[in-house]
Amino acid sequence: MANLRAKSRYPGLCLYCGAEVTRTTTAAHLLECPKRKTAIKSKANQRESVYQAKVYYLRAEATYWPEFWLDLEVRGEAQLQDVDEYLRSIWLECCGHMSAFTLGGWGTPQLAKEGFVGDVFRHRAKIMHVYDFGTESWTTLKRLSVRQGQPAPLRPVSLMVRNQLPEVVCLECGAPAQWLCSECVIEDDRMGFLCARHCKTHPHDNYGAPLRVVNSPRLGLCGYAGPAKPPY
Ligand SMILES: [Zn+2]
Ligand SMILES: [Zn+2]
Ligand SMILES: [Zn+2]
Ligand SMILES: [Zn+2]
Repeated sequence: MANLRAKSRYPGLCLYCGAEVTRTTTAAHLLECPKRKTAIKSKANQRESVYQAKVYYLRAEATYWPEFWLDLEVRGEAQLQDVDEYLRSIWLECCGHMSAFTLGGWGTPQLAKEGFVGDVFRHRAKIMHVYDFGTESWTTLKRLSVRQGQPAPLRPVSLMVRNQLPEVVCLECGAPAQWLCSECVIEDDRMGFLCARHCKTHPHDNYGAPLRVVNSPRLGLCGYAGPAKPPY
């Protein structure tokens, strides 16, 4: 029971002020966050904000690994293409696989990447994104709220809150782990996390040296080595 409770917290960090939040408390925090309020206000004073756009608060969540989540602000005039590029940069891109947006997974209608975020999320509360049609990474995108104004910063997609890297432990000794063995993942179907010490002595090398543990649900898939260099 205690274990379950710890898991349901899903901790994250506010990118504006650095506060620790959880997946449940983050929406309330963002409404009150002083640094975010200031950032939005300074945008409101700029001339271009005479044109008041719609900004969507979306949660991106790794569908089968909900410890990984991102709270994003996305402009209504942004296209799904922009969201795809963003997810690739921060979470997914290993070697240029195909991707798609669907209403609810395979077998449900696909959504054109040229579609505008505002049009898609005006009527829908949830869509799904898949990267790599072989070793799939699914992301669920949920609309949490909409506001009138300008996003801060003025990019198509901006990050407000990001999950904290879940704590992982070495499969050999239980100490905190920083490395992951690809051979364990591919051939033994287990997350072969390793501490620095056992990274050196672990017997597997069919898929190269162990990979660094990174904050992404692509972890362990297709040799994923980490995000693109910001900004994105
Ligand atoms: Zn904050
Ligand atoms: Zn790949
Ligand atoms: Zn160890
Ligand atoms: Zn291994």
